[in-house]
Amino acid sequence: MTRDLHHWIDGRARANGAAATVVVSGPLDRLPVATVPLGSAKDVDDAVAAARQAFPAWRNLAPVERGRLLAKVAARLRERERDFVDVEVSETGKLTSEMVSGLHVSADYFEFYAGVVRALFGETINLGAGDHAFTSREPFGVVGMITPWNGPLTQASRGVSAALAAGNTVVLKPSEFTSSTSVMLAELASDVGLPPGVLNVVLGTGTEVGSSICAHPDVRLLAFTGSVGVGKMVARAAADRLVPAILELGGKSANIVFDDADLERATQSALTICVGAGQQCSALSRLLLQDTIYEDFLARVGAAMTSRVPGPTLAPMTTEAQYDKVVEYFEVARAEGARLVTGGRAVTGELARGRYVEATVYADVTPDMRLFREEVFGPVLAATPFTTEDEAIALANDSEFGLAASVWTTDSARGLRVASSLESGQVMINGGRSGIETPFGGYKASGIGREKGFESLKHYTQVKTTIVSTR
Ligand code: NAD
Repeated sequence: MTRDLHHWIDGRARANGAAATVVVSGPLDRLPVATVPLGSAKDVDDAVAAARQAFPAWRNLAPVERGRLLAKVAARLRERERDFVDVEVSETGKLTSEMVSGLHVSADYFEFYAGVVRALFGETINLGAGDHAFTSREPFGVVGMITPWNGPLTQASRGVSAALAAGNTVVLKPSEFTSSTSVMLAELASDVGLPPGVLNVVLGTGTEVGSSICAHPDVRLLAFTGSVGVGKMVARAAADRLVPAILELGGKSANIVFDDADLERATQSALTICVGAGQQCSALSRLLLQDTIYEDFLARVGAAMTSRVPGPTLAPMTTEAQYDKVVEYFEVARAEGARLVTGGRAVTGELARGRYVEATVYADVTPDMRLFREEVFGPVLAATPFTTEDEAIALANDSEFGLAASVWTTDSARGLRVASSLESGQVMINGGRSGIETPFGGYKASGIGREKGFESLKHYTQVKTTIVSTR
């Protein structure tokens, strides 16, 4: 049975009328899961108008009051774990365990920003006797937010929670392939008392709905998560209207393993390429191995990857286009002469009704290969040897991307030295784990701005300086 979706505008579902729809097929068996209305510029206009109207009252609520409502969203999300997990698993194909943790991360975002927005203070500036100056952080107004298909609920929750806590109102456009949980989130928020118009969801394609949001004169800030190519279009649209854009884009992140590392833990870190079947922006898809442990480590990772079985422990590709893309990279890797360690094929047999590919490791990947440079967005590791620390840093930085990186060494001075040389928005040393509290975003083509942590609240606000004469 498919879900019939609708836009959520001004606190209620919008009937689709004669609008065109698209039927989305699920990744587990390619059967229909949702019928999505293809929104228009008119739907965007209405949603922006509702958000604009809701803005003054929302921004004037005390942060503690906004926070209380967002905390209710978090609590209700946790209560409805089963509904959200089932729906998102059917649309993304994620493992249930992955999605359960995604649901709780989503609730955490709302809890975090519900609390910390109360600590969003300005500063006083000493100009000497006669003048008193202070800054305050103010919301922008209507935020246009566009999200991808790989983590629909977590991506939406990450941006929406911070934007709303800061006092903005939001028009959200999820990916047309995974729209359901964004609408469910907006409905749930209305149920717990979020005023109409504060969070609106318009469904449809990027070319129609996405670009209408970017071009809308009343949208004061763009927050985009997705590919580099579309990110550049959003940046151009933002430049045309001179509005800021937060851009969270792709990655080709390096996992550097030195020969003094805890190899067992480092092997487990390499296996994280299988989380979400590698469809994560921060996936550690390049494995840079010191030459003294190169073959040994490849053997460990190759063996460990065989424990990730498509179906029970490895999710499928979410969209047909993504499946085709990963299968094409298997061909590219073969043609470029990379050495196949394990995997390298689409799954055949009974499971082939879903979009499954094998957990894959290629060795001897050189910087001139596409596999080294391009984001595959699948469970595919590309391994490259290095000899010296400087060589490891140079290889890691030899990328247009700079989203995340990881270093494994028991020499803590080297760990910090390497981390400080990496052109990356986030570096994990010896498996350090990030949290809601830790800012996240890219260097270079991986993006502009930061989501998560207190930093995000700064991006969703602008600074006003007020100077009072006391003469
Ligand atoms: P995508 O860029 O194709 O689409 C992202 C969103 O943009 C979708 O909602 C899409 O409909 C919309 N869109 C498409 N064309 C548009 C246009 N012309 N104007 C406005 N909007 C438009 O990306 P995707 O394939 O959905 O997602 C995968 C990409 O997202 C990967 O590159 C991944 O690394 C990246 N990603 C980044 C982060 C991060 O935080 N850095 C997180 C998740 C995913």
